[in-house]
Amino acid sequence: MPPHPQDEAYDLSVKDPSKFWAHQAQQLTWHTTPTTAFRKSTRKLASGTSHSTWTWFPDGEISTTYNCIDRHVENGHGDQTAIIWDSPVSGSKQKISYSELQEEVATLAGVLREQGVKKGDTVIVYMPMIPATLIGILAVARLGAIHAVVFGGFSASSLAQRIEASQPAAILTASCGIEGAKGPIPYQPMVRGAIEQSPHKVAKTLVWQREQSQWEDIRKEEGERDWKTLMEDARKRGVKADNVPVKSGDGLYIIYTSGTTGLPKGVLREAGGHAVGLNLSIRYLFGIRGPGDVMFTASDVGWVVGHSYILYAPLLAGATTVLFEGKPVGTPDASTFWRILEEYKVNTFFTAPTALRAVRKEDPENKHFKTRGEKGGLRQLRSLFLAGERSEPSIVTMYNDLVKQHGAPNAQVIDHWWSSESGSPMTGIALLPKTTSNLSDHEFVEPLKIKPGSAGKPMPGFDIRTVDDEGKELSKGTMGNIVLGIPFAPSGFTTLWRDDERFYKSYLKRFNGEWIDTGDAGMIDEDGYVHVMSRSDDVINVAAHRLSTGAIEQAIGSNPSVTEVAVVPMPDQMKGHVPFAFLTLPDAPSDLLKDLNGRLRHHIGPIASLGGVISAPGIIPKTRSGKTLRRVLKELLENGLEGEFGKEVNVPATVEDPAVVEKARVAVKDYFTSGDGKKMKAKL
Ligand code: AMP
Repeated sequence: MPPHPQDEAYDLSVKDPSKFWAHQAQQLTWHTTPTTAFRKSTRKLASGTSHSTWTWFPDGEISTTYNCIDRHVENGHGDQTAIIWDSPVSGSKQKISYSELQEEVATLAGVLREQGVKKGDTVIVYMPMIPATLIGILAVARLGAIHAVVFGGFSASSLAQRIEASQPAAILTASCGIEGAKGPIPYQPMVRGAIEQSPHKVAKTLVWQREQSQWEDIRKEEGERDWKTLMEDARKRGVKADNVPVKSGDGLYIIYTSGTTGLPKGVLREAGGHAVGLNLSIRYLFGIRGPGDVMFTASDVGWVVGHSYILYAPLLAGATTVLFEGKPVGTPDASTFWRILEEYKVNTFFTAPTALRAVRKEDPENKHFKTRGEKGGLRQLRSLFLAGERSEPSIVTMYNDLVKQHGAPNAQVIDHWWSSESGSPMTGIALLPKTTSNLSDHEFVEPLKIKPGSAGKPMPGFDIRTVDDEGKELSKGTMGNIVLGIPFAPSGFTTLWRDDERFYKSYLKRFNGEWIDTGDAGMIDEDGYVHVMSRSDDVINVAAHRLSTGAIEQAIGSNPSVTEVAVVPMPDQMKGHVPFAFLTLPDAPSDLLKDLNGRLRHHIGPIASLGGVISAPGIIPKTRSGKTLRRVLKELLENGLEGEFGKEVNVPATVEDPAVVEKARVAVKDYFTSGDGKKMKAKL
């Protein structure tokens, strides 16, 4: 049998990356066309270490925003809808065409230039899910400046940390965010608090005033400006800025990962590789072919998923993107997603498995989907993509049956795996159009079969392998560390923002520079499908928000009586996981959980709230080299939740004192049989 086109394209991309990606680069407009697709070289670090590095399209120059906006207007697609905003939380809807987007972005870029932002500067965007956010990000990129989007709603100290790290010339913000049905959350205390806390002085803060909650005074003397007033004034004067091309290897944006040490890592996304990689993925994996196609990505623009598939990739394709300000349930109910799919004739829908779990809980029989589907309202759906965490086979199977039977017969649920570092999916099942021109719906190549529980097969340019702890490649079907061969595909990062040393230490050192460490563990099966089973370290995924145990422990440690703490994920029906803390205080006060959650809210945000806490002396097991064995505590906790207190747990040979594990076992049993855990279990 001839190879499937997905496998064929993949083989070509890893056997001859230069040829493959040179062809992909031709799909975009360059200010200076690159003569070479990729170059490998050696980076010498200040510490004396050297490692292999790679550059995509080294002599090319590009403007991402020209390719996302102006190119389409010049090609006669100015009247096509670029952005649909749907905000059940504010009762608003809006459509913005490519021509209107061009006008807005060029004007805001002109304003930002007058406010002192120039090529190469960084600008923090701390905004909710409104069109001004996308316009703001694009205006920064239009100037050749680098944006660093910080999830709106992060606490003042989390924002201050990111201000300190990225040293922005300006901050774009709004008067408030609206989180679900909870009403407006004023941003003023967070933004002003962060600016006060950070030693870096931000010159300008532009505030987008929303009617739901206004920023009462705009302190001009402190650099604050009313965004809309500046725009009106610029419009009157005809102020606009044109696209500023940058070198392919220059930064387009910084995105901060959760990290494991408490300090977030600033992943630097390079302009040229990003545009080429995303342009391939949107057409090749997500089945969005161009003007007229509609993509709805239900994520936050603060996460990499939002950067890539709410904003950049759909616009690179000239398609329509849906920007949604709401929640899967409660705004107003579990039919919201399906209403949007029907109302805007969405072709590709992308969300996180946690969102589907929430929908399933509210509407276990999927009445909402079926009602719309039976009237034919979901026939244009091509697929439902899931990522952000592992999708359990049951959720894939359930929604796969649903979309096929009640949506569109050819649609399916596609789990795909990627990260902030990769910028675009590393695995998936490709929806490959037969040609790249506009075709009717059925003219897609028959995709590879999905396997629930697997995140699909590698995407072009991602040379995925599994290795043991020494970096030796493992055979098919064996669990191990998931790594990537060099070079990382063009959408992937090549370093951390101003920190080559940390890049090497975090991603290359573990396997002596031979492989890029993804931090994930899993296996590749006999058919070449990748199964991502868990994180090698202990990042906790709460409702698709990734929180590091290190940052949570650090916040808990701000309670002066805490000397030792280990945080592990506890399974939670709604959120996937919630953090759970083990402490060693002999006489924990009864309000300990409340105190710790207050600290977490302050340092990280309410999303980090603990699901529970166990405190007893000597219950945190360690290796002989002093590493906390969180995995052991996690297993004990999971067994405790099941009532299996005596079940054997996997204790490594390197444990310092096995008696500590037994003490922890007793504490877990006490917690679930007579402590707070008993009440918690009763509620489940
Ligand atoms: P982030 O950089 O915050 O987007 O998180 C990336 C991490 O999320 C990956 O390294 C995985 O641990 C996890 N992840 C994302 N998508 C999947 C998936 N489809 N299956 C399993 N884990 C996933």
